[in-house]
Formats: sequence, C-alpha cells, structure tokens
Amino acid sequence: MADVAVVGAGLGGLAAAARLAKLGHHVTVFERLDAAGGAMRPVESAGYRWDGGPTAVTIPAVLRDLFRKSGRPIERYVDLVARDVARRHVFADGAVVDLPVGSRGPQIAAVDAGLGPGAGGKWAAYVDAQTETWETLRTLVLDPPAGGLAYADPVVAKRLGARTTVAKLAKRAFKDERLRTMAVHQVVAAGSLPRDVPAYGAVEPYLERSFGVWDVRGGMRSLVEALVIRLDERGVEVVYDTEIAAVHTEADAVSGVETVSGTFHTAQVAVTDLDPRAVFGRLLRHPAAEAGRRIFEVATPATPMAVTHLGLRGDVPALPAEVVLHGDPLIVITTTDAAPAGCRAWSVRHRGAPGEDIVVTMVGRGLDVRHLVVARLERDAVTQIRATGASAYGLAWAGHRAQARRAALVQPLRGMHLVGSGVHPGAGIAYVGWGAAHVAARMGKA
Ligand SMILES: Cc1cc2nc3c(=O)[nH]c(=O)nc-3n(C[C@H](O)[C@H](O)[C@H](O)COP(=O)(O)OP(=O)(O)OC[C@H]3O[C@@H](n4cnc5c(N)ncnc54)[C@H](O)[C@@H]3O)c2cc1C
Repeated sequence: MADVAVVGAGLGGLAAAARLAKLGHHVTVFERLDAAGGAMRPVESAGYRWDGGPTAVTIPAVLRDLFRKSGRPIERYVDLVARDVARRHVFADGAVVDLPVGSRGPQIAAVDAGLGPGAGGKWAAYVDAQTETWETLRTLVLDPPAGGLAYADPVVAKRLGARTTVAKLAKRAFKDERLRTMAVHQVVAAGSLPRDVPAYGAVEPYLERSFGVWDVRGGMRSLVEALVIRLDERGVEVVYDTEIAAVHTEADAVSGVETVSGTFHTAQVAVTDLDPRAVFGRLLRHPAAEAGRRIFEVATPATPMAVTHLGLRGDVPALPAEVVLHGDPLIVITTTDAAPAGCRAWSVRHRGAPGEDIVVTMVGRGLDVRHLVVARLERDAVTQIRATGASAYGLAWAGHRAQARRAALVQPLRGMHLVGSGVHPGAGIAYVGWGAAHVAARMGKA
C-alpha cells in the first residue's frame, strides 16, 4: 500500500483518488479551496445557480467505468440525461440546424432540412470518416495506461492523419462555409485554432453522434457531490483550504508534499491535478522537472470563453439545451442551469470581440431577452482561470509533435503522476477521467 497525496480536487484529482483508494492505497486529497470540484463548481446569485465550467458529458462510458471500478454504478448517485438534440446551430443567414444525436439518418435529415438537400450527406461523410480514427485513438492511445507514448510512433501518427489539421480536413470536406464552422466550432469554443489541431481532433462530432451528449441532472455539482461521497466511503481524507507548494523527492522518487504553510506530508506517490506549467515550474523539486519545464513553458493556455450568466423571468423563449450562434463573436448558450420556480437560467459563453454588451449582440442574432433579465453575473477568462489556478480547457493545441512531447510527461519520475485538463489525454470530463484511469492502471493494487 502506498501513501498517495492527490493535489487538487478537480475532476482529475477526485477520479484518481477514488480509483486508487479502491485499489487499496491510502489516499489524501489536498485542495486549495474550501470545496471540491474545481471548474465544475457552480456559481450562484439571486437564487440562480449556473454551472461555472463544463455543462455536458460526452463518452459517458468513462464516468460509468469510474463509478463501477471505484465501488457502485453511477446510476445510484447521478442522473445522466441524454439530449435528443446535441445543440442548435444558428447561422448568420438565418439557417437553423437542430443536430440530433444517436444515429446517422436523423442527422442527415436535420442538416438537409436546415442547410439544403445534399448538405446532410456531406456532414455524414465527414463524421463517418472519423470511425477508424476513433478506433485507433481508443485502442492505441486512450485505453493503454502509457498510450500517450504511441503518439510518437510514426505508424500511429499516420493512421491518425496527424500530418493534417482539423482546419484542412473541414476545408476539404465542405464548400459550404456553414458546414465548415459547424465542424470546427467546438475547437474554437475550447480555445484553440483549428489550424493547430491535428486531424484526429475532428473525432468529437463522431463521438457525439455515436455516444450522445448528456446533461447531469442538478448540474455538475451533483457529479462532484457524488464523487466526494465516493471518497468518503473509501476512507479518503479530503483536506480543504490547503495549498500544496512543493512535491519533494528522495533518491529519484517522490517522498512527500509540502503545504504553503510548511507542513510536510509523507507520500510515496503524488498525483497532481494542476496546470503542468505550475507542476514543472514550481512544485516538483527534481532535475526531472527540467524536461517538463522546457516542453510546457512554451505552451499557451486554452483561454476559456467569457461567460455572462443570466437569470430570466417572464416569457423566456424555449430553446434546446445548447444553442450556438455562429459568427463573430461565437456565442454558445446553455439553458439547463437551475432557476427559481417559473424562471430560467442561461449561461451565454462568447469568444471574439462583441464591441457591445453581449445581450445586445444577441438581439442582432435574433434573440432578444433584454426585458427578461432579472439577475446577471459576468465571468471573464481571467476570473475563471483564477478560480481554479488553471484554464479548465487545459493547454491550446499546438500540432501533433507538441501533443506527443506533452503526452510523454505524465509520469516524469517514480511515484509522480500528472492528471487534469493540461496533460494527456487532454481537457474534458471524459479525457480527464481517462487520465485518472491510467494512473490507477500504472499503480495497480496495493
Ligand atoms: C468554460 C468551460 C467549459 C467546459 N465545458 C465542458 C463540457 O461541457 N464538457 C466537458 O467534458 N468538459 C468541459 N470543460 C473542461 C472541463 O471543465 C475540465 O476538463 C474538467 O473540469 C477537469 O478539470 P481538472 O481535473 O483539470 O481540474 P480543475 O477543475 O482545474 O481543478 C483543479 C483543482 O486544483 C486546485 N488547486 C490548484 N492549485 C492547487 C495547489 N497548489 N494545491 C492544492 N489544490 C490546488 C484548484 O483549486 C481546483 O480545485 C470545460 C472547461 C471550461 C473552461
């Protein structure tokens, strides 16, 4: 049995802690703030409660596996609700596509209905082409505990189409600019440029079509609460209001962690759920940190979209769970946040230069809710990054080679593991959950 210190109680830290405790290790989680969840914590005002970061789950199998492997099925704790429509796309010319999930035929029909005959077939072909890419990614990169090393294999890189980019893929596939923006908007929303994203970044629409898009009833807070209960059941101590300043080593292995107030906790294993630039730049006191510093100090954080949380009362337009208003700024509205009876809570995320209040910009895009706003909370990118100490979108994509170099650094020395949005396999609930599973697989039973 190892003494494990998990640093940070974001999803990555919570998931790693639950899995390692189930394997019989003695786990303590240290969290800088007074509650768990990191970017998944809600923000509240005037009786409204909005998800502060993630709003939807894709590849729910990763969460299901986490709960099953750490104790009991997820259904005992959390209600995952499948969306019928992944999101509504609204284009500058007024065209609208309500993109369903689950299967090919309904997607073709919806895209044809919104963008004209033939558009659906083109969209389906683009999504179909990701089938093989996903199989390669899953079996060679995501499932194996050291799968990140496979990125450096030229054969794997070729199978993944790593030499081309999502931008080129979309340009080749579509003449219709609306289909192009539909294909790349998630990359843009998550803080990267499509020309920096290797082609395998285009698997997201395939994953949504195949495995659905899911909301968590009660918001992401419910998922965090379930994980905290799970840790309690497994005897994991979560120490709040405690920031870790250093990971110490002895004889080329982790020996413990030190809090900012100088208290030392012995541990043979440290799992950090932090920005890797902080881990390699400040926390890890060992020559092995130098390689990480070189790779990560040139990385750019994937800046979160600014968000305007709205509390609405009155005759609020009925919209799907997510609506994308394409254009500049790109606007993504989620409509499932918690509100007092008879009211609705929306989160309006936007990227680009509005040049005016975002609620006014929305009027120009056909959505006028100015007279319905009774509560409002603004959170720009800096506020969101300060809240967790890192961008919950992790680091911006910087091509395949950078991806391969970063992926090789999840276990820089004996007893040290990195999880979270900033490290392999990347940001997003599913990928961060996968990273935690890798740590458990590398460590094994106590
Ligand atoms: C706007 C936005 C929308 C998103 N939407 C989605 C979505 O819809 N679906 C999806 O799957 N993903 C989404 N993501 C990504 C998702 O939020 C993250 O991948 C996920 O929350 C995992 O976060 P994490 O494990 O990296 O930890 P974080 O949430 O970054 O948490 C890190 C924790 O570590 C703590 N900490 C920091 N430093 C220290 C220290 N020195 N000592 C102790 N504790 C410390 C912090 O306080 C924090 O609690 C979104 C991200 C953003 C920014």
